[in-house]
Amino acid sequence: MNIYNDDVFQMACDQFQVIADYINIDKNDRDRLMFPKRAIAVTLPIHMDDGSTQTFQGYRVQHHLTLGPTKGGTRFTPNLSMGETAALAMWMSWKCALANLPYGGAKGGIACDPTMLSRRELEGVSRRYMQEMIPFVGPHTDIMGPDMGTNEQIMAWFMDTYSVYQGYAVSEIVTGKPVSIGGTEGRRESTGRGVVYLIERAMDMLKMDPEKCTAIIQGFGNVGSVAALAMALKVGVKVVGISDATVALFNPEGIDIKAADQHVAKKGNLRAFSEADRVDPNELLTMKCDILVPSAVDRVITVKNADKLQCRILAEGANGPTTPEADLLLNERSKEVFVIPDILCNAGGVIVSYFEWVQGLQSFLWTESEVTDKLFRILQHSFAQVIKRAKEHKVSHRTAAMAIGVERVMKAKQARGLFP
Ligand code: GLU
Repeated sequence: MNIYNDDVFQMACDQFQVIADYINIDKNDRDRLMFPKRAIAVTLPIHMDDGSTQTFQGYRVQHHLTLGPTKGGTRFTPNLSMGETAALAMWMSWKCALANLPYGGAKGGIACDPTMLSRRELEGVSRRYMQEMIPFVGPHTDIMGPDMGTNEQIMAWFMDTYSVYQGYAVSEIVTGKPVSIGGTEGRRESTGRGVVYLIERAMDMLKMDPEKCTAIIQGFGNVGSVAALAMALKVGVKVVGISDATVALFNPEGIDIKAADQHVAKKGNLRAFSEADRVDPNELLTMKCDILVPSAVDRVITVKNADKLQCRILAEGANGPTTPEADLLLNERSKEVFVIPDILCNAGGVIVSYFEWVQGLQSFLWTESEVTDKLFRILQHSFAQVIKRAKEHKVSHRTAAMAIGVERVMKAKQARGLFP
């Protein structure tokens, strides 16, 4: 029993133990690598529009500070807990280390449903959250970014609140800000773009012709919608299935993704989008396609459906979409299903966040094409390293990716030593 007690945290720990066994991490060093350095819980009382006062719970977990500040998103979701936040922070550590970014992982957020709050209430809860976090974050301590349920506007409120307290504009305290206050061109699209770039590398390797391929994308938020648009319009893959929290849609002739995107921009979700058939959201994952992109929530690929997946490429846009038990089944099917594990697949977001932070620190701006080129170079390098390690050591792509990340953190901890 510990303060992180939660199924998702347990899953992150189980994944870590698999890696620790594989790379023979001494038992004495495991807890030090696995448990978060710091965890902060705050209560946020807010004046609601109806005159009442409501309190929300907020969290921030900083996993390790060995390589530099911690970095990670802030999610506003109804059931957020300390355990889930800690699991996500741990995954951020391995993700940043795999991409060779000078960061430890972090994650934070507020247990709330942002769609049920007015703009004024949302601003209130966002500003209050940052205000409570001021003693614990900073451009060289912990840098927040966006995640589920948050956006550029919320990052702007965070930045403004922090800056007002410091007395000057501190753009480098958050990433994923609007471009008008030091945000980076292309940050919003970066996670989805990275997902699609890696899918293209996998298709090259497997000699798959995009024009003959179909894709199903679960989740139509910032990652899923950008990935769907790029797959359909740039890569030429036929997107036959999409879903969000309200509906799952399938059309074997291909879905007009531009129309779906415009529909969501107007209506807020896919519920009333009528250009495809409604299907059971769980069944969508096991329908036939070449590329399956879970880009919504964690633990959607489980022992119940892992042996039923009919895709050739599983590109994990979400954090933690596959449980360790499902992983064992997928390992047995490694010749049929090519997995691009989450900490590689969705790393585009934090990589471009890193560029945004560096630009903020240096008061310097790069163009969108410079940012995208640099992003693809890092992803290409990480992808090649993961594939090489998996082949040489005969391990899964996930094990290879996580081992590279965990080893980098472990080496840094060993080099710095244990004080006192
Ligand atoms: N939310 C993103 C992730 O899960 C990254 C957030 C950031 O840029 O810090 O990778």
